[in-house]
Amino acid sequence: MENFDVAVIGAGAAGMMCAAVAGQRGLRVVLIDHASSLAEKIRISGGGRCNFTNRDAGPANYLSENPRFCRSALARYSPQDFISLVKRYRIAFHEKHKGQLFCDDSSEQIIDMLVRECGAGNVTWRRPVDVHEVRAGTTFELSTSAGEMTAASVVVATGGLSIPKIGATDFAYRLARQFGLATVEPRPALVPLTFTSTGWEPFAALSGLALEARVSTSAGRTRGDFLEDLLLTHRGLSGPAILQISSYWQLATPLTIDLLPQFDATARLLEAKTGSKKQVVTELSGWLPARLAEVWVAVHGLAPDARMADVPDRQLRVLGDALNRWTLTPAGSEGWRKAEVTAGGVSTQELFSTSLEVRKVPGLHFIGEAVDVTGWLGGYNFQWAWASAVAAGQAIADR
Ligand code: FAD
Repeated sequence: MENFDVAVIGAGAAGMMCAAVAGQRGLRVVLIDHASSLAEKIRISGGGRCNFTNRDAGPANYLSENPRFCRSALARYSPQDFISLVKRYRIAFHEKHKGQLFCDDSSEQIIDMLVRECGAGNVTWRRPVDVHEVRAGTTFELSTSAGEMTAASVVVATGGLSIPKIGATDFAYRLARQFGLATVEPRPALVPLTFTSTGWEPFAALSGLALEARVSTSAGRTRGDFLEDLLLTHRGLSGPAILQISSYWQLATPLTIDLLPQFDATARLLEAKTGSKKQVVTELSGWLPARLAEVWVAVHGLAPDARMADVPDRQLRVLGDALNRWTLTPAGSEGWRKAEVTAGGVSTQELFSTSLEVRKVPGLHFIGEAVDVTGWLGGYNFQWAWASAVAAGQAIADR
């Protein structure tokens, strides 16, 4: 039987960070992961360059049933703290868009940095190792494929359900249920949205076309609104605007897309009509990609060569209103296979926000994506992984 102060289950972003923090404060830490290759999600993140934080990350960039829950951890470990760590390791990085920080070279550098941080904390690695059972008593007892272990604290950092082929499991939710903890139904987030093949047919041929648009949706008390690039695909919509809105979108509710957020399209069309000899398609092509203008005219029942002067104002209004308020209801999403993150997870009601410790099971903590805190696209999810990990690691060391 091996004895530790802390057993961290899951050696991804949050798990490695937490193990390093607790180890460097003098605790005996074991870090267990079932996967044979280390931190695959960090490796593939940010297109291989890891968007490791967002300079401007704050509570407003996160979704949760309790939007205030993430405040404490985010305030105590800021993007600047992680940037300082990255600088200490001389990892070159750059800002890409809206505060998003990426490695210049490779996400491997972030993995190497975390492995070295764990080394500095004398963390004991156990991988690939499966955890069969966790029992709570005066200490925790773990049955694993590497034998029995005890630990005074257990940190669950096994992430969410997205991308099952690189090792995602429902371990955190199963353990939560075992201890009688509430969970918020996990669902794919930061994911492309799909439409029925008949509904999407006119647009499928535009696959690959991208343009900036404002996309919004509201469901109950939550409302999302993003001005970002929109990408048309064979099956529906993707691109940053859609990935962002997908986290807010609920099944059977519509999205509203403003394809011309800079101006009132109806007013412009009516203005342009006066004395115009142009075709409607030509007019729209000045504002939109030409291929989209052609499809737009067709789906609104106009002939391809319809002239502005011949189209009644009433019909121009319908066309213009739809450009500013294109309302469409996705049939679903591309699911876990393509989702960058999992929304939902272990309910924040069950946890102290300062330590991520389970209120009714002292010594048990859940951190990272396993918890019902989901960041926007753009480095926010890693910032939550780092901040929640540091909060738990420090709290365990200070106990
Ligand atoms: P993970 O990093 O997923 O780690 C969980 C660990 O637990 C894994 O090592 C896994 O093997 C292990 N595990 C799972 N089940 C078990 C089990 N039963 N027993 C033992 N171990 C287990 N976020 C950003 O902020 N910026 C980005 O650029 C970015 N890019 C992304 C790109 C892609 C394609 C994807 C899928 C996600 C991306 N994300 C990004 C999201 C980010 O990767 C996650 O939010 C983050 O990794 C969550 O950290 P975590 O430690 O909670 O979980």
